[in-house]
Amino acid sequence: MAKDQTVLFHSTIFGPIRSRRLGVSLGVNLSPVDGKVCSFDCLYCEAGYNAQGPGKSGLPTREKVADNLQAKLASMKENGETLDVITFSGNGEPTMHPDFAGIIDDTIALRDRYFPDAKVSVLSNSTRIFNPVVAEALKKVDNNILKLDSAVEETMQLIDRPVSREFTVEKVVEALKQFKGEGIIQTMILRGEHDGRNVDNTTPEEVEALIKAYKEIQPREVMLYSLDRSTPEEKLVKVEKEELQKIGEEIERQTGIPVQVN
Ligand code: SF4
Repeated sequence: MAKDQTVLFHSTIFGPIRSRRLGVSLGVNLSPVDGKVCSFDCLYCEAGYNAQGPGKSGLPTREKVADNLQAKLASMKENGETLDVITFSGNGEPTMHPDFAGIIDDTIALRDRYFPDAKVSVLSNSTRIFNPVVAEALKKVDNNILKLDSAVEETMQLIDRPVSREFTVEKVVEALKQFKGEGIIQTMILRGEHDGRNVDNTTPEEVEALIKAYKEIQPREVMLYSLDRSTPEEKLVKVEKEELQKIGEEIERQTGIPVQVN
């Protein structure tokens, strides 16, 4: 299927979703609810390709995000529910929201008020970490999860398809160093084909390049994962957990950085 796959989340606040890995997670989608806005256009994006357009609803305002989040947290609290994490993900890149930093401040304040033990996580594609305001906001959250899918320029361009021609592996690795010891690097591991070209970031060369990059960046943790749902490029293949684990062990052995395999 999936070439015409479209947005996943039809609301700004979604869930809570219960998962073994994250526990109870409440999602925040800072992208439109009827379209996608992202600075990457990944072959594997669960929200579909950017070609579907941004929709008509626009980005939610800072006030709307805070109001909706407050209403949800208040009702969860009143009903005696638990909450482990508030996760920013959704139909695009959360840090592209012009009020991202203010929204993070509001979210931390609401978390402290209603569920002080819950974590705040942001899943970002790392394209906006060059902006100091965005970078400072990311430093405030508990889990700053940043994407690095390949440390080989050609492969990163093939898998992630950054919208800006300025974005390169070399630049992003350099910028990721600012989160030394705090940031979490998330890497999608996959194989397949796109437009007749081979896609594979499991080769020894790819893994060696990632290891070199992780050593430079020194994240708190590395997360490896593979495909879970259908993807806009149909010719992608999930890498099974056993193989992910082997790659993870090699990374841990060579870098000393903890690796979580999902
Ligand atoms: S960065 Fe995330 S939202 Fe953007 S295209 Fe890639 S998978 Fe989709």
